[in-house]
Formats: sequence, structure tokens, C-alpha cells
Amino acid sequence: MSLFTEATSAFGMKSAEQMRQQAHIQVVSKNLYSQDTKHTPLAYGVLDHRMGTSEKDRPCLTCGKNLADCLGHYGYLDLELPCFHVGYFKATIGILQMICKTCSRMMLTKEEKLQFMDYLKRPNLAYLQKRGLKKKISDKCRKRTVCLNCSAFNGKPESSSRAEPVQEDS
Ligand SMILES: [Zn+2]
Ligand SMILES: [Zn+2]
Repeated sequence: MSLFTEATSAFGMKSAEQMRQQAHIQVVSKNLYSQDTKHTPLAYGVLDHRMGTSEKDRPCLTCGKNLADCLGHYGYLDLELPCFHVGYFKATIGILQMICKTCSRMMLTKEEKLQFMDYLKRPNLAYLQKRGLKKKISDKCRKRTVCLNCSAFNGKPESSSRAEPVQEDS
């Protein structure tokens, strides 16, 4: 009998339901402080001390620990409209620049795909080599404006002033 059992790990975003379940409060107030003279954080605002404290003389209202010992607790807010996660925005634009916006395939020829796959499979690729390879793939994809799979026209996705990806028409 083996001492080791096969384990799998999966990384990803939590679902909206999981985030709600893990949270201590739902943040619903847009104001930060209540109207008193003591500068008390408003309940259900983003500074609510049930999510942890940011002040030396006020403990966390969930675990009772102070600023140094409280690890912080989750809160969530329901957004009125879907929006892009600011942390993933650059990566999202990067991916959109490499795939067809109609059929979602990579904008590469079969030969190019095989060639890049060959490089990517090398186990000892250094960080800078990987970065260089990613740039090479991205440059190749971005130069192609017609999809090799479905023949759809693909403009260049850029971030607009409204912080969402837009595709050029020509
Ligand atoms: Zn706490
Ligand atoms: Zn396509």
C-alpha cells in the first residue's frame, strides 16, 4: 500500500455564493463614517470594524483582537452591473488580443501553434524566456486581423476610457 495518495489542487475564483457564505457582512453603505464627532466607521460601510480594524485603539468587532493580531474578515458588496476585476483587467486584454472574438480560437496557424507548444513544453524555461515567448505569441496573434478558423475580422482590443475592452472596427 502506498503511503501517498494522489492529490489534486485546483486554483480559481470563488463563486458569488461562496463569497457571500464566507463573508461576515454585506457592505451596503456608501458612506465611510457616521455623523458623530468620534469618527466612528459606519456599520455596513467599507470601514465596518467587523471586517477588521485599521485603528490602534479600536478592536476588531468580529474576533475582538487588535490591529496587529486580527487577520481581517471578509465582507462583500453586490455590484449593480457586471464589471471587470481590476486585478485581471490587463490579463483579460492580453487574452482578447490573442484570440478570435467570434470563435475563441488562438489567432495562430497550426504550424505556429505546434512550434510554440514545443517551446512551452520545455521544463527548464527561465522566467525571462517564458516572458519573451509570451510576447512573441502575442505579437504574432495581434498582427493577424482575419481568423484562420472562421474568417471573422478581428480588430485590436484596447481598454476604453470606460475601463472595458473595445474592439476597433477597421
Ligand atoms: Zn478580527
Ligand atoms: Zn474565429
